[in-house]
Amino acid sequence: MDVAGQSFLDLPAESLTALTAEAFADVSHLLRPGHLAQLRAILDDPEATANDRFVALELLKNAVIAAEGAFPSCQDTGTAIVSGKKGQNLLVQGGLRDAIETGIRSTWAGRNLRFSQMAALTMYEERNTGTNLPAQIEIEATEGAALDLLFMAKGGGSANKTFLFQETRRLLEPDRLLAFLDEKIRTLGTTACPPYHLAIVVGGLSAEHCLKTVKLASAHALDDLPDSGDSAGRPFRDRGLEDQILRLTRQMGLGAQFGGKYFCHDVRVIRLPRHGGSLPVGMGVSCSADRQIRGRIDAEGVWLEALERDPARFLPEVAVPPAALAVDLDQPMEAICATLSTLGVSTPVRLSGTMIVARDLVHAELARRMAAGLPLPDYVKDHPIYYAGPARTPAGHASGSFGPTTAARMDPYIPDLQAQGASRVMIAKGNRAPGVVQSCARHGGFYLGSVGGAAAVLGRDVIRSVEQIDYPEFGMEAVYRIRVQDFPAFVIIDDKGNDFFTRLPRLAD
Ligand code: SF4
Repeated sequence: MDVAGQSFLDLPAESLTALTAEAFADVSHLLRPGHLAQLRAILDDPEATANDRFVALELLKNAVIAAEGAFPSCQDTGTAIVSGKKGQNLLVQGGLRDAIETGIRSTWAGRNLRFSQMAALTMYEERNTGTNLPAQIEIEATEGAALDLLFMAKGGGSANKTFLFQETRRLLEPDRLLAFLDEKIRTLGTTACPPYHLAIVVGGLSAEHCLKTVKLASAHALDDLPDSGDSAGRPFRDRGLEDQILRLTRQMGLGAQFGGKYFCHDVRVIRLPRHGGSLPVGMGVSCSADRQIRGRIDAEGVWLEALERDPARFLPEVAVPPAALAVDLDQPMEAICATLSTLGVSTPVRLSGTMIVARDLVHAELARRMAAGLPLPDYVKDHPIYYAGPARTPAGHASGSFGPTTAARMDPYIPDLQAQGASRVMIAKGNRAPGVVQSCARHGGFYLGSVGGAAAVLGRDVIRSVEQIDYPEFGMEAVYRIRVQDFPAFVIIDDKGNDFFTRLPRLAD
C-alpha cells in the first residue's frame, strides 16, 4: 500500500503469531550450527580434559534427542523474550503484543515445555501463571516497513548470571581491567551450565543500556559491530580483549563444568560510550541451552533463522566415555556414603537406583517442619536427593526433560538437614556455600554434580520411572521418587572437606 509516496505494509496478526510460535518451538529443540560446531571442537581438541569431552559429548547427544521434537533441550524452557525493531510503516492488524503473546501461549501449551512464570498475588504469595506468560517484549520503532525480531528463551539459571558493576574511570587501565574481570568471571561458577558464550560490556549510557547490550552480545546479535570507536561514541567490539579473556577463562580450571579448559566457547567484549561520572560494567552468559533465533517480516515475506535440524552430523563416529565407577543407590545410605568416601573430587560416577527429587519449595517446607519440631520424612534420609523439576512428559516415555537445577538455592537448609541424617548425598549443578562443605565434613555428606544442560538425555535415556510421592500441590516442585540407570555425575564435595571448586588453580601470570 502506498500513501503520500511512502510504502506501507499491512501485517495480519496471524502471521506474527505463527512466526512467534514457530520461533519458540524451534528454539526449544534446536541449536545454531555454530554452537554445535563449538561442542564438536572440544571433542577434537587434544588439550581438552576427559571431563570437558564428556560434557561436550553429553550436550551433543542431548541436542540429537531434542531435535527429534519430543524432549526440549533443557527442562527449564525459559522466559520468552522478544526484542527487535519495527518499521513505522509496518502496521500490525490487531495489535503487536497480542499477536506475539498468542504465539508464545500456543507453543508452551502445545509442546512438552515447562511453565516457569510466577505471578505475584501479594508481596509474599505467588502462583504459576500456567501459560509461561508474561513475556518480556521490547520493540523499538524505526524507519521503513519491516519487523526484525530476536526471540530468546532464557532459563532462570542463565538469567541469574547477569551482573552489573558500577565502577569508575580508574578501572580503565589494561592490567586493572583484566584483574577485575578475572575476579568477576570466576564468580560465574558453573551453575548456568557451561561452556558459556560470555559477554562483557564496558560503558553504557545507563545501567539498563549496559545490561541490554550484554544480553544481545551473549546472543551474538551484535557481532557486526566495528572493531574501533570514534569521536561520536559509536559502540565497538574489542577483539584483542576478547582473545585475552578467552585465554584467561581457559586457565581458570573450571572447564566445561567439572575441570578443564572449556569454561567458555567464546567471549564478546563491547565498549560503549558513557557519562563521565559513571562506568557501568556488565557481564552475562548464554548457557548450554543457547536458545535464540532471528525472525523478519517484510514486503518479501516472513523469515526465520535456520537452526540445525541434523545435530547428529556433529557427533564423532566413536566416543569413549570416561571410566566411571558404578554406584548402587539401592544400598543403605551408609553403604552409598562408604563407596563415595573412597573417591576423590571430580571423579566420575554412574548412579543406578532410587533418588528423591526435591527442590526449593520442599526444602522450605522441610525447614518449617524442623522448626516446628516435627519429624522429617524417611525418604530424605534413605535416598540421595536430586534437585530438579521436570518438563512435561512426552507420550510413551517415563519422564520429560529432567536436568539438575542450581544447588546453591538449597544451601541454607543443608546443615540442619544433615544434622538430622537427611540429605547425606545431594545431586545438582553448580557450586555450594562453604557451610555445605563444612556440613558434609561434619556429617559425612557428599555433593555430586550432574551435567547441566543435558536434560533430554536424562529424561529419555537415564530416568526409568517417575512417581510423585509428596506435596502434589507444588506442581513441578513436588517430591518425586525416580529410578535411574547409569546417571552420570561427578564428586564435587566429599566427606573430608574437599570441594572441587575451591581447589581450582588461580590464573597464571
Ligand atoms: S542449560 Fe542450565 S542454565 Fe541453561 S536453561 Fe538449562 S538449566 Fe538453565
